[in-house]
Amino acid sequence: MELTLADFVFFVIVGSFVLVPVFAIISRTLHRREENRALANRVICRLCLRAFEDIGHTKVVICSTCGALNERGRSRRLG
Ligand SMILES: [Zn+2]
Repeated sequence: MELTLADFVFFVIVGSFVLVPVFAIISRTLHRREENRALANRVICRLCLRAFEDIGHTKVVICSTCGALNERGRSRRLG
């Protein structure tokens, strides 16, 4: 099979229409995964409102600024 210039240009255009969305989906997926990982490790102190990152797996995290005990994740409890 002989490849003409018109066929080559057609394949390049079709290939770019396929590859750009694939790379965009991969990039967004990786970005979303990294963002969720960062949000899972983020703790906001309930007293001084300092946001810090804690990579431990304990449920209660001690604030390094004021020493208050904070629950990891979204806590609906008051006080
Ligand atoms: Zn604090």
